[in-house]
Amino acid sequence: MRTVTVKTDRREQMIDVTSQVRKEVADSGVKSGIVICFAAHTTAAVTINENADPDVTRDILHKLNKEIPKDEGYHHGEGNSDSHIKSSLVGASEIVLIEDGRLVLGRWQGIYFCEFDGPRQREMLVKVIPCADD
Ligand code: ZN
Repeated sequence: MRTVTVKTDRREQMIDVTSQVRKEVADSGVKSGIVICFAAHTTAAVTINENADPDVTRDILHKLNKEIPKDEGYHHGEGNSDSHIKSSLVGASEIVLIEDGRLVLGRWQGIYFCEFDGPRQREMLVKVIPCADD
């Protein structure tokens, strides 16, 4: 298992980590399989979405913040319940196929590490798993 370190500089942020995942896949030497990207945090997430127009990630964060306000009478004493909720909604992991040693992503897709309680230094775990072809 490999670790991709992600430094965030805002409270909410989506960081394109596709190139780092590509490097881990290349370093693994696996030609056919899957790669699992996992955020080992309760206030962060991993998702796949458009990496062509930066307004898309801006709009995703805008909508999440609108639907899940920071202060809404939550009980959790740490004051970051909105971050925990966003983390669960977006999800902790993504799986991407590997074929011919390359990530199988749509033309406009990128892998994003989602920060919901930054800024911090985060770790995304990356596991490359070979699969036998039939
Ligand atoms: Zn908390």
